[in-house]
Amino acid sequence: MEPEITAAIRKAAEVIGSAESLAITGHVNPDGDALGSALALAHAARIAGTDAVVSFGGGSVIPDHYGFLDLGPVVDRADFPHEPDVMVVFDTGSPDRLADLAGPAAAAGTLVVVDHHVTNDGFGDVAVIDPTASASALLAYHLIRALGWTVDARVATALHTGLVTDTGRFQYSNTDADTLRVAADLLEAGARPDEIGQAVYESVPFGYLRVASSVLGRARLEPELSFVWSYVTDEDLGQGNVGPADLDGLIDDLRIAREAGVAALLKQVSGGYKVSLRSRGGVDVGAIALDNGGGGHHNAAGFTAEGTPAEIVERVRAGLR
Ligand code: 5GP
Ligand code: MN
Repeated sequence: MEPEITAAIRKAAEVIGSAESLAITGHVNPDGDALGSALALAHAARIAGTDAVVSFGGGSVIPDHYGFLDLGPVVDRADFPHEPDVMVVFDTGSPDRLADLAGPAAAAGTLVVVDHHVTNDGFGDVAVIDPTASASALLAYHLIRALGWTVDARVATALHTGLVTDTGRFQYSNTDADTLRVAADLLEAGARPDEIGQAVYESVPFGYLRVASSVLGRARLEPELSFVWSYVTDEDLGQGNVGPADLDGLIDDLRIAREAGVAALLKQVSGGYKVSLRSRGGVDVGAIALDNGGGGHHNAAGFTAEGTPAEIVERVRAGLR
């Protein structure tokens, strides 16, 4: 870790360690990293005798497959402090990704932001932003250690979930030695990789198989752009009785086409589609997402756009040309 990141973590630990209570969040519709990081800090704080609550903005739902995590600190959006003394935000590249929790973030006495998105230009009073970190959960781990707080099995499980999901099960190029050392420490603290892996990756409703079949069946390969794409409609979901959160892994089935260096999966949302982009490394899909009002990382990014799949995919093509 660079010395300025270590210094930022120390500063964040001072603020958090002297807080009487913490209001903790992450980006809307939290993934394993945002949720795991937030829960880990909340559990560690509660063990240390500091009140802590977790919530997410924008009517977020926590996907069922994260139900194995101890969600005790999670409160309804309505019960989240409007003007928190200290608010901690994980895995969020810009305030708009907090949706309506941007209000409490702006009103907070001190806002601490812990993130690893390259597109984060540093909001908050104390910003721990390390684009080289594999996951926000890695930074959360170092923060909890800097606080001297206990990493029990619940904290370890939450953090390990963040590492596993953001590194693609320790497979992506962001998987580094520090991540694996921290993972080892988390296992010793009680995290169970088998339980996390089954809950997150091997637990979809049967109807998902039908939905995946339709979506993969209509995938298009565009060899001249080294590009594969497909889309999911509300109608697809209705047929399989499958929820949007069940689709988190679907992009991983699409991206394995050897002929493609970039994959895009469009998922219908009200008024348009949410686009997930993945790259094998040759193309910066984060830049394409940013051009379209979204964001993310070099190899994994997303944006939301109005229009039909044909119209939206043309935007991605424009970025690939
Ligand atoms: P996913 O495709 O799994 O939803 O997201 C992949 C990555 O892109 C994640 O790091 C996520 O935070 C980021 N991302 C996805 N959609 C958006 C978006 O609309 N705006 C921003 N800023 N980032 C996004
Ligand atoms: Mn993340």
